[in-house]
Amino acid sequence: MTDLTGMNITMASGKGGTGKTTVAVNFAWFLAYTGQKVQYLDCDVEEPNGHIFLKPAIRASSASKVMVPVIDQTKCTSCGECGAKCQFHAIVNLPGDTLIFPGLCHSCGLCSAVCPTGAITEGTRDVGIMENGKGTKEIEFIHGILNVGEAMAVPLIKKVKSGLKDQYVHIVDAPPGTSCPVVATLNGSDAVVMVTEPTPFGLHDLKIAIDVAKLLNIPTGVVINRDQGGYRPLSDYLETNNIPVLAVIPEDPDIARHYSQGSIILESLPRYIDTYLSLAVNLGKLLGGHNVHARRAQS
Ligand code: SF4
Ligand code: SF4
Repeated sequence: MTDLTGMNITMASGKGGTGKTTVAVNFAWFLAYTGQKVQYLDCDVEEPNGHIFLKPAIRASSASKVMVPVIDQTKCTSCGECGAKCQFHAIVNLPGDTLIFPGLCHSCGLCSAVCPTGAITEGTRDVGIMENGKGTKEIEFIHGILNVGEAMAVPLIKKVKSGLKDQYVHIVDAPPGTSCPVVATLNGSDAVVMVTEPTPFGLHDLKIAIDVAKLLNIPTGVVINRDQGGYRPLSDYLETNNIPVLAVIPEDPDIARHYSQGSIILESLPRYIDTYLSLAVNLGKLLGGHNVHARRAQS
């Protein structure tokens, strides 16, 4: 089996509810079971749940902060320059007052750069926390937990990814969908494993997610989850676009039962170990067909 040490393998899905995290935690467990050193990074910061299955003992926690401008009203001349330049409408200039809306601010720093009177300084605000620890099978674990109602997921995702350790296989659990947090998670990946369900909705969202991975030039394969004997439109699409099927997991009430109990499926149902072996072998072939190091040098 291919040694995946040093690889960044991102588990993604076009939509929620495909079983992405189930596949991600079980694949992390499988690689650790085969003797590889594994680090699991949960970048699904709005709804992280990898910890439910990997059960890490948390050893450290730190706040994730972003820069937010602070205005000294005594220096502000209400010239309107900051509000005019802010692309994100995070500053409103009123006669005699300048208001900041921190939830809209993207921390670009432009407003302080253009302020002619030096009225804007840089403060910070918390957007969430990052925790790390060690889970089952000695899996190194990091996740981010975004504050409720917080929109700025990307800085927290970057903080989680900054914890990547050398000499480990990195299994990165991406948020569902194709928004900015997904792109931030996919950046720097050596391969993407798209977990999909064989339904019209699953296929629709899978196509969009695969287009994003193509734009980022990341080798992509698919895990078909909850298969019920094949779904022709999905297999036709994958064949036409030359996208490999890395593994097929059948619809199985036993999997659903163990999932609902927060269990690692492979511990309870070892008959699926061969499925994850196929995933590892096919992923190795996918990576082997791409010059990862050359691609990294270009990025
Ligand atoms: S830091 Fe950037 S995004 Fe935030 S208020 Fe200033 S100009 Fe707008
Ligand atoms: S650019 Fe500076 S002086 Fe002008 S409105 Fe903004 S904070 Fe006030």
